[in-house]
Amino acid sequence: MPRRLALAHLPTPLWRNDALDGLIGAEVWVKRDDMSAGAEAGNKIRKLEYLLAEALDRGAHAVVTCGGVQSNHARATALLARSIGLESTLLLRVPDPGAPPQATGNLLLDRMAGADVRFITPSDYQRRHELLARAATDRALRGQKAYVIPEGGSNGLGAFGYIEAMREVREQLDLGLAGSSRPFDAVVHACGSGGTTAGLVLGARRFGVSNEVHSVAVCDDVVYFQGVVERICSEAESIGGTHERADVVIHDAFKGPAYGVASAEQLAFIVEAARATGLVTDPVYVGKALHGLARLSPKPRRVLFIHSGGLPGLLGLSGDVLPALDPDAPAR
Ligand SMILES: *Cc1c(COP(=O)(O)O)cnc(C)c1O
Repeated sequence: MPRRLALAHLPTPLWRNDALDGLIGAEVWVKRDDMSAGAEAGNKIRKLEYLLAEALDRGAHAVVTCGGVQSNHARATALLARSIGLESTLLLRVPDPGAPPQATGNLLLDRMAGADVRFITPSDYQRRHELLARAATDRALRGQKAYVIPEGGSNGLGAFGYIEAMREVREQLDLGLAGSSRPFDAVVHACGSGGTTAGLVLGARRFGVSNEVHSVAVCDDVVYFQGVVERICSEAESIGGTHERADVVIHDAFKGPAYGVASAEQLAFIVEAARATGLVTDPVYVGKALHGLARLSPKPRRVLFIHSGGLPGLLGLSGDVLPALDPDAPAR
């Protein structure tokens, strides 16, 4: 078992709400990983407990990672790196690096953490592996050893975060915190870079949480994620031994118009869910996954839904959400 830092507030609660059950049409237990910490909260912290442990073990002074400009992963990495005394370099994808975006949402927090933020174009992002290596070399030239963390913290080591999250849920089931100790019919979650899916696949059946994982893709497609998840699962198995995998169903019908762009229907659903239940979800990941769950057919009856965070991303996209708050108002 790889070494792990204790960075998250665990166990995160299992949360249930009658109005949410009604809205979704299932018995929905929400694993509140949006409550895994303060500003650094979300699913990435579970992966970073392993990745940052390895960075420290290798004597790193800094970490280097990448993502979209509103990357929750980059923000969690920058904040958690500071909390253990490491610097960070973030390569963030923007449409036009010549016109840098306003520091809102995650980007505001990246700046507050003192991250070395570099904006790169979407085409540069295609060769992010090379640019990450170069950023690490830049640090090395200044006498700082840098540890590279891939997009989303999604590799075999990071996957241990959600393998262990499934152990945590099994303990909660045994304590009667989800109505009974019975497994769930399915685990449902948002999938962006595949590391969370891989961890769930390796942990859910093994710990008797569920035999089925439903991953709602927010970008790319089924074939792409089958490849990514297979690669990360094999990597994790080579680190920690093999276990029976859960069945995984990847859905690419609920990703909306594009990565980071939600449809009017998705935005309306996100607002409806918040108003009915008080549960806030973001339009990039969790809102799309919850909307996807509501539309799944056939629908699992007893569900573990992973709330993977994303609040700063929502706040960084307030302009997209505003029209959904009052759809009958004349456009301004
Ligand atoms: C990154 C992220 C996901 C997706 O997790 P992956 O492991 O990258 O697939 C889901 N929800 C939120 C809020 C995220 O930030």
